[in-house]
Amino acid sequence: MIRLGIMGGTFDPIHNGHLLAAEEVRIGFGLDSVLFIPSSHPPHKQGKKISDGFHRYTMAVLATVDHPQFSVSTVELDRPGLSYSVDTVSTLKDGLPEGSEILFITGADAIAQILSWKDAEKLLSLCDFVAVTRPGYSMSGIDRVKEHLGSLAARVHVFPITGFAISSSDIRERVKTGRPIRYLVPAAVEEYIHKMGLYTQSE
Ligand code: ATP
Ligand code: MG
Repeated sequence: MIRLGIMGGTFDPIHNGHLLAAEEVRIGFGLDSVLFIPSSHPPHKQGKKISDGFHRYTMAVLATVDHPQFSVSTVELDRPGLSYSVDTVSTLKDGLPEGSEILFITGADAIAQILSWKDAEKLLSLCDFVAVTRPGYSMSGIDRVKEHLGSLAARVHVFPITGFAISSSDIRERVKTGRPIRYLVPAAVEEYIHKMGLYTQSE
């Protein structure tokens, strides 16, 4: 049996806010490991320009390579069509030993949207959610979300963390305008972004 944390996202690019959230939850919830899962075609970002999955995956690997309990999954990048978490969690759960648990880690902004996710109730029957606080986003809507969920509300855990006010959008904007991103992303991710010339074009 294992307790697996998963963190889905566009990770365009992965940053220290993602890494800190995952580490705080890993320790706080006694997780065996955390899997970062870059999405292929996120349903809520259709029409927006997203970097190639290969780059987003590579940056996630560079960011996590020095952490023995962190790794990166290609399960969504390998799957055609829109990336629905319910499909991902079903697939992952099938591959885990009987009795294992999955905890889905999200930020305050993502948990607020959960009712709009595909098959939200089925998803919550498959895994727990840990919603971490994120600077700039209120957790005040969580009670309304929980009301809608009824008995499944017990599956959603709010977890206050020491947060970083970092977003991938801001990092992309910083690169485009020539401002520094040092200490916002791991050094290897910063080097990769500059080496590959990512985020220099207008979105
Ligand atoms: P973008 O600005 O492109 O939307 P992002 O920084 O929000 O990027 P995502 O890949 O969209 O990153 O987010 C993946 C997950 O990480 C979501 O659950 C999101 O809430 C969470 N997350 C992102 N940044 C932080 C942060 N600074 N603190 C806590 N959680 C975060
Ligand atoms: Mg986001």
